[in-house]
Amino acid sequence: MTTHNLPRAVAVIGAGTMGNGIAQVFATSGVETHLIDVKPEFLERGVANVHKSLAKFQEKGALTAEQVAATKARLKASSDMGALAGVDLCVEAVTENLDVKTKVFQAADAAMRPEAILASNTSSISITVLAAKTKRAERVIGMHFMNPVPLMKLVEVIRGNDTSDATCAAVEGWSKALGKIPVLANDYPGFVANRILMPMINEAAFALMEGVATREAIDEIMKLGMNHPMGPLTLADFIGLDVCVSILDVLKDGLGDDKYRACPLMRRLVAAGHLGRKTKKGFYTY
Ligand code: NAD
Repeated sequence: MTTHNLPRAVAVIGAGTMGNGIAQVFATSGVETHLIDVKPEFLERGVANVHKSLAKFQEKGALTAEQVAATKARLKASSDMGALAGVDLCVEAVTENLDVKTKVFQAADAAMRPEAILASNTSSISITVLAAKTKRAERVIGMHFMNPVPLMKLVEVIRGNDTSDATCAAVEGWSKALGKIPVLANDYPGFVANRILMPMINEAAFALMEGVATREAIDEIMKLGMNHPMGPLTLADFIGLDVCVSILDVLKDGLGDDKYRACPLMRRLVAAGHLGRKTKKGFYTY
């Protein structure tokens, strides 16, 4: 394995929003990519989403028909962890739940070659905790892609307690070879992106709850005033209010500070099943 080149083969576990996008960028860059999920119907949906996204890139002229066909051929869907035996890198992108991720990490650790790297796309779960469940802690790392993965440049690379320099260098090199910009962070709750983003979203929810301004005004002020592409309430709907609340809970527990307590209005919307765009209702109605 050489840094600054791409890995020969990768596996992406979890064919949801993020897993699809991650698999797409590897396959587009020429890497043999195995997309793995528990159920065939999730894989079908995942592959269909990748194909839809590739068609959009082709329409825009960013990919040729040949490139799209070659990318599709490089992307292999499977519900069998057997594919992990031949990969240099596995990126786990399953549901944000410690028990689920622990099981996936242990299965991946057992299936992969000892020298291969096991990365997690987790938004908030400790890389050190996940690494300790494996026999390869020095080759476990966070590779936190942003949504939508094919468009967003950042990969927040998270170094666990025992992650080696060689693992960091390999993952930084591979991220660059994908056309992304890796930025290194250490393993503390929320890392950097969510540690700073979630309190802003939470404060916007408190401002709305307290009637400081309307939801539209809060978003417009932050958009125009801070030059953000979208306001914090719109962004929260995009991320999912359930995801926002669970990351805030991780920050509050992990850092032991009540300043991260999730806004009761956001908790109420989650309790009502209004999770944002994915349920067509959150702070806004879609
Ligand atoms: P999602 O719910 O869209 O997809 C999760 C997928 O994992 C599902 O298809 C599910 O079937 C699959 N899965 C569950 N258990 C599995 C198992 N045991 N083996 C194989 N597959 C399994 O979730 P998502 O939004 O894509 O998030 C995935 C990860 O990425 C989470 O850790 C999340 O925190 C992180 N993340 C999400 C975003 C975002 O904006 N959605 C951004 C950055 C990071």
